[in-house]
Amino acid sequence: MEKQDKIFKLIKLELKRQENNINLIASESYANLNIIKAQGSILTNKYAEGYYKKRYYAGCKYIDKIEKIAINRAKKLFKADYVNVQPHSGSQANLAVFNAILKPGDTILSMKLNHGGHLTHGSKINISGKIYKTKFYNLNKKEKIDYNKVEYLSKKYKPKLIIAGFSSYSRICNWKIFKYIANLYKSHLLIDMAHIAGLVAAKLYPNPLKYAHIVTSTTHKTLSGPRGGIILAKGDNIKLYNKINSSVFPGIQGGPLMHVIAAKAICFKEALKNKFKIYQKNIIKNSKYMAKIFIKKKFKIVSNGTDTHLFLINLNNKNITGIKAEKKLSLANIIINKNCIPDDNKKPFITSGIRIGTTCITYRKIKRKYIKQITYSICEILNNINNYKIIKKNKKIIKKICKKYPIYNFN
Ligand SMILES: *Cc1c(COP(=O)(O)O)cnc(C)c1O
Repeated sequence: MEKQDKIFKLIKLELKRQENNINLIASESYANLNIIKAQGSILTNKYAEGYYKKRYYAGCKYIDKIEKIAINRAKKLFKADYVNVQPHSGSQANLAVFNAILKPGDTILSMKLNHGGHLTHGSKINISGKIYKTKFYNLNKKEKIDYNKVEYLSKKYKPKLIIAGFSSYSRICNWKIFKYIANLYKSHLLIDMAHIAGLVAAKLYPNPLKYAHIVTSTTHKTLSGPRGGIILAKGDNIKLYNKINSSVFPGIQGGPLMHVIAAKAICFKEALKNKFKIYQKNIIKNSKYMAKIFIKKKFKIVSNGTDTHLFLINLNNKNITGIKAEKKLSLANIIINKNCIPDDNKKPFITSGIRIGTTCITYRKIKRKYIKQITYSICEILNNINNYKIIKKNKKIIKKICKKYPIYNFN
């Protein structure tokens, strides 16, 4: 018998790691087994360049059906009139939009990276910042979006594109103001709902489709689907939609990942269920609950709270860096990520903060009493950062909670 590829051993070990750790990474989620099944299916064999009934390959009879179902479910879920499910990831979705509506050298206005923006929103280390000029708005003293600054910069630079939507902003964004400003200065408005798509689907966050010319998203964050991207819009601007379609293919991508598109279709159907709404509600409940405990324990939360699945902790008053916190917590099987805080004076690889998200612990249906325990463990470790006894003690507690709340019921 041929020896099994060691990759499978590593996958098993990764499963064990996921099961044995409390995951508080705000951009991650667990996909259910149906999603994983579709994503690991024979659909990976098929080339399907092009779109419904206009393919560059033969044999797309079933592929057409699958892609159409995915599109229709996404339309229903987000109340969209136009959907493209082909972007391989959130970054690809954004690049496709830029490529569709901008010319090299055009100006983008977006949120500053260390105030909560995303690399693909014109950061100079991303292709978006190399092709286009970028101006950045930021948070105000209260660590909320400075809408006056958005207006001021729009008036001054007349950006061809304004981007709203963020990676580490914990508050409800006022899409209406963005729409008003974009209309006033004749800019396109792109809303990138990558992080909050699940909350939007569950109607717990204002649906950006009503306000933006174009919406992009990932499908693997709060939405809890397969790793991938999507582009949506509302209205009847067929010319724009055709431009976006040709920008995705043949503009920046080749063949669509049909196994992932099938998994997206399953995820959209899941997200239409009442069960999903309860799940998303609990994500926010847990996030607010944890933030409140941290505040009580004298930790500084950026903007002093949260409306969503995530929040940032500013560790400056504790005299520890984000990277150190990340490392020490991971020794106790608690996985968070270091994150810049507004105007962080430390480099992105070091940072002064950490980001905490509650999607994964909510998926595991961890009870409040244990969420309190997890939060206490984090506080105790951060308050005694070099004390290995305390790390060890809490690791035991965390592993017990993990065992009680498995992610998957294998075996
Ligand atoms: C995660 C994220 C992306 C990028 O998604 P990938 O799938 O990792 O490429 C884009 N925009 C925002 C706001 C994000 O949070």
